[in-house]
Amino acid sequence: MLVFEAKLEGTNEQYGKLDEAIRTARFVRNSCLRHWMDNKDIDKYDLSAYCAVLAKEFEFAKNLNSQARQASAERAWSAISRFYDNCKKSKPGKKGYPRFKKEQTHGSVEYKTSGWKLSNDRRYITFSDGFEAGTFKMWGTRDLHFYQLKQIKRVRVVRRADGYYAQFCIDQERIEKREPTAHNVGIDVGLNYFYTDSDGNTVANPRHLRKSEKSLKRLSRQMSKTKKGSKNRAKFRNKLARKHLKVSRQRKDFAVKTARCVVQSNDLVAYEDLKVRNMVRNRHLAKSISDAAWTQFRQWIEYFGKVFGVVTVAVPPHYTSQNCSNCGETVKKALSTRTHTCQHCGHIQDRDYNAARNILELGLRTVGHTGTNASGDIDLYFGEETPQSKSSRGKRKPKQ
Ligand SMILES: [Zn+2]
Repeated sequence: MLVFEAKLEGTNEQYGKLDEAIRTARFVRNSCLRHWMDNKDIDKYDLSAYCAVLAKEFEFAKNLNSQARQASAERAWSAISRFYDNCKKSKPGKKGYPRFKKEQTHGSVEYKTSGWKLSNDRRYITFSDGFEAGTFKMWGTRDLHFYQLKQIKRVRVVRRADGYYAQFCIDQERIEKREPTAHNVGIDVGLNYFYTDSDGNTVANPRHLRKSEKSLKRLSRQMSKTKKGSKNRAKFRNKLARKHLKVSRQRKDFAVKTARCVVQSNDLVAYEDLKVRNMVRNRHLAKSISDAAWTQFRQWIEYFGKVFGVVTVAVPPHYTSQNCSNCGETVKKALSTRTHTCQHCGHIQDRDYNAARNILELGLRTVGHTGTNASGDIDLYFGEETPQSKSSRGKRKPKQ
């Protein structure tokens, strides 16, 4: 599924109508959730049927296109089923009990194949359901021209701090050709560098992002000094929301480009399966921002891995920085120790470089062999050879 986005240009009155549609979609989602809470053993189809009940009961709910009402019910269901899944897998910690959505700056409503219409030149979109939001000019629709109209499965109207957007979800698998590079890489994300790879290369945190993050901090500090409920505070809130938007766009841009670059130049990419959920909870903004960047980076690596047919492996993060990438022994060190110095084999290496090498090795080990085994019929028997002992396993020459 591909997603394209265009900014909507209309009048304030039209935006107000989009707001109504967004509010109604949220109402349907929340009502479905309530319905589920009150009668636990209902399923997806019951919720979908409940949409019709809501439309009968509430005049404004009827204004929303019927497929968009269904889409809102589906959203409620996906929150519920995610909760059920977490319970079934007995995931540790919170299970993500579905919550009601509150009124926020951002919000969205999802249409399927009806309730909207594109103009012939695909530069205008008209919303034709009961809210009668009318026709909007669209900015940034170049990509839309490459696809058939029937490939557009959903149109999402998204409200952000700086305006309204239409997202087009297009039914198309993205597959791209790529020549094998016979190169594998392990990457270790960190605070000093955005990441360090198993060849010792580093990618710095982008400076423009740093700068934006600084002003983000300043703005949020300024906002905390304004009086609650004042006009001034509202002004700051919007300013802050726009800044957040800008930073998240810059971050996404950086994540996409870096991830694409890593995936295109390797046949296998290994990285740590970080439990970011726990890390974000600390109070240091700088760190939580990097956490967000890593999560996104990883998602794009996995996405491009699929697109380019590159193996991506998330390895368990335990001991990747403590173990020696040369001899495999554990060398305990504090977070502040930046250099790995092995007492067992004398191997000295930058901490992150060492970790990246461990990550690559773990990654290669995890993937193992998939597909048909060429030597499937032959009994594997290595004469006198005994299985390798732990200390001689994966021994490498120390790098200079
Ligand atoms: Zn060692």
